Order: sequence, then C-alpha cells, then structure tokens
Amino acid sequence: MVEFVCTLCGKCCMGMGKYVKIKGSMGLNKYICVHELTNETVFATVEKPYREDFDPDERDTPDEWCPFLNEGEEEGTFICVIHGTHPKFCRDFVCASMRIYTQDGVEAGKVSEKGSLVSSDDHLNALWKEQINPIITGSDEVWKEKAVGVLEPEGYRIEVYD
Ligand code: SF4
Ligand code: SF4
Repeated sequence: MVEFVCTLCGKCCMGMGKYVKIKGSMGLNKYICVHELTNETVFATVEKPYREDFDPDERDTPDEWCPFLNEGEEEGTFICVIHGTHPKFCRDFVCASMRIYTQDGVEAGKVSEKGSLVSSDDHLNALWKEQINPIITGSDEVWKEKAVGVLEPEGYRIEVYD
C-alpha cells in the first residue's frame, strides 16, 4: 500500500460551491465559513501567495466551485487558497482507494472508497464489470487483493492506498 497523493485535479472541490459558504469576514484575508455538509464552522485564512487576487465578491470562477478554489500555477492544476485552515471535511477527504495505470504510466482509472471505478478505458471498464464487480467479500483488504489479482495480469499497475 502507498500513501495517497493528491494530483490537484480540483474535481472534488468543483461541486462544493453549494456547501462551502462564506458567512463573513474577520478582517483582512480572514473569513468565517461553514461547510454545510457537516455544519462545521471554520475561521479560514487565505494563504499569502493568493491574498492579492482573492476577493469572494469578485469571483470569476463558476458558482458550483468552492469559493476558495483557484487555478494553480501549473496548467490543469487547482489549489485551495485556504489550504492551511480548510475544513476538516476537506482535510479528511481522500478521493480514491486505488489508482490504476497503464504500462506507459498513464492513469487509466480511479476507484472510489466505495469501490466504484471511474475510467474511460474500455478494456478496464469491461474487466471491472465482468470480473471485479462480482467479487463478494466482507473485507476491504481481500477485495483489493482480488481486484489487483485481476488487473495486474492484464498489464495494469495499481496503487492501493492506506
Ligand atoms: S483529492 Fe482527488 S479529486 Fe480532489 S483534487 Fe486531489 S486528486 Fe483531485
Ligand atoms: S475549502 Fe478548499 S479543499 Fe475544501 S472544498 Fe473548498 S477549495 Fe476544496
């Protein structure tokens, strides 16, 4: 098993606009916010590099996005501008229990904590449907081992997270 590493794809924050609400400001760069999925209140501080550009009243990001999500410096990356003080809900969130790569190292699919696959790889989707979905076991560990046992012989490399 390996440690999960966030690739900064931003997908988990792009639907959070309806849940992460800014309720007021507490002075420069500090905001009172509520995560409405958990009713958690946080006192968020915008990280230094983003202070100059961050203004929740002048957002140019989509409404569905969390108001604290911004594009990162590297193309295709997205960052949380309150990373040091973001809600516990976000800190605890791990979007995948496994990532599946092709032999060339390209990400072919991601498996959620609940064991569902997100992939546009037809062969992988077919394997999942025919050989992995039918696996029934009461143990996550055993399920992961069995899934890896199906995928590795087909040439995929699997990262299984703790
Ligand atoms: S936690 Fe997952 S979905 Fe969210 S930004 Fe990181 S890699 Fe993307
Ligand atoms: S507070 Fe940060 S980590 Fe949480 S949803 Fe918003 S951008 Fe994502």
